[in-house]
Amino acid sequence: MSTSSKEILIRRSEITRRVQELADEISRDYAGGEILMIGVLKGAFIFMADLVRAMSISCQTDFIRAASYGASSESSGNIVITKDVELTIEGRDILIVEDIIDTGLTLRHIVDTLKLRNPKSIKVCTFLDKRERRKVPFEADYVGFTMDEGFIVGYGLDFSEQYRFLPDVYVISNKMDQGKEGDQ
Ligand code: 5GP
Repeated sequence: MSTSSKEILIRRSEITRRVQELADEISRDYAGGEILMIGVLKGAFIFMADLVRAMSISCQTDFIRAASYGASSESSGNIVITKDVELTIEGRDILIVEDIIDTGLTLRHIVDTLKLRNPKSIKVCTFLDKRERRKVPFEADYVGFTMDEGFIVGYGLDFSEQYRFLPDVYVISNKMDQGKEGDQ
């Protein structure tokens, strides 16, 4: 059971502007090269679709999916990769694209797992960086927006599989169940 109300936090126009800035910065940093963008499903699918189309260098794309089991409101630390990358990582410049960093546990696990496959380089771009609840130190290389707390929906982010389709970003209040278990 949940009773929730949502307030707009970031408007579509501001998102568009910021995504273009990130794409320009990343394109400059990798000028003349080609990156393999790896989106973390499901939440990053809309951000990555916008980001990849705003880039001015060549990109290949793939996806990974991770689930966290054992807690309802935050990552338990028991992270399992439920859908792996299909393209070769060895020798490539990898950019992991995530919707939001919270405790940092999911990305720590994904980065550590992919590093074992000998990429040429590995960096992280996150749409949102929620800094309040970090359990492991983790800094993304590219950050869209920074915030302290709150449960976010819209622009790919869900609450029990709802709201992903919304073009703006909202913060939800009064929720009783964030619906996060095993659901990225
Ligand atoms: P972490 O392992 O950093 O705690 O969790 C990262 C994952 O938790 C994100 O990929 C996302 O699926 C989920 N998550 C963390 N905070 C939020 C939030 O505010 N809203 C939504 N919809 N998902 C979140």
